[in-house]
Amino acid sequence: MRSQQQSSRRDFVRTTSVAAGLAATGVGQALSSEAAALAPDEVLAHLLEGNRRFIAGQTSLLTRRRPADFAALAEGQAPGAVILACADSRVAPELIFDQGVGDLFVVRVAGNVATGAGPIVKGSIEFAVAELGARLIVVLGHTECGAVKAAAAHVEARDALPGSIGPLVEIIRPAVAMAEGRPGDKLTNVIRANVEKCVQTLKGLDPILLKLVQSGDLKIVGAVYDLKTGEVGVLS
Ligand SMILES: [Zn+2]
Repeated sequence: MRSQQQSSRRDFVRTTSVAAGLAATGVGQALSSEAAALAPDEVLAHLLEGNRRFIAGQTSLLTRRRPADFAALAEGQAPGAVILACADSRVAPELIFDQGVGDLFVVRVAGNVATGAGPIVKGSIEFAVAELGARLIVVLGHTECGAVKAAAAHVEARDALPGSIGPLVEIIRPAVAMAEGRPGDKLTNVIRANVEKCVQTLKGLDPILLKLVQSGDLKIVGAVYDLKTGEVGVLS
């Protein structure tokens, strides 16, 4: 069913793109309408191109963010990518990737956690892939992440955090151990380790994500957003 839907969408996109004479990744072009025709690597390239526009201050501010653009999607969505990002107020995926309405399926939670995050986060991501046809998942950490800082501080202080903050920080805690002994800045290393851990968790989610990653129909990458420069750096 999924492949049938995808191929019909792909055919539609190819036909309309050729007719319109559109470039594959033109400025302001809707990733959502192109995604079905793009390989996962091409979806990633599209996002990084948007990030470069964002850094350069050349964002397409009015493109696909008008009421009419929202109304056009009322009957359905086909986001090209899932972004699992931190809830941090400074990390807004549509802005930093310069994307419009319908392009990104965004799941945001403090510390951009997937490992240990339970069925709400994992199920949301699986839904976007299995039902909406997203081809790429980006686990997006960021510099100066308060949730990761709290996890590192919590491990050192061995104290208890109030409410549900404690269990949330506990989820991030294994990344502190993962980063132990790595050269360079400690917080940077823990932020990266936390992203890497979440990527591995998502890649192993059987049956939906695991099989699509193995067949090459889905790519899952980790990245870190730099609050100061605006750059999204993909982890190798
Ligand atoms: Zn954060």
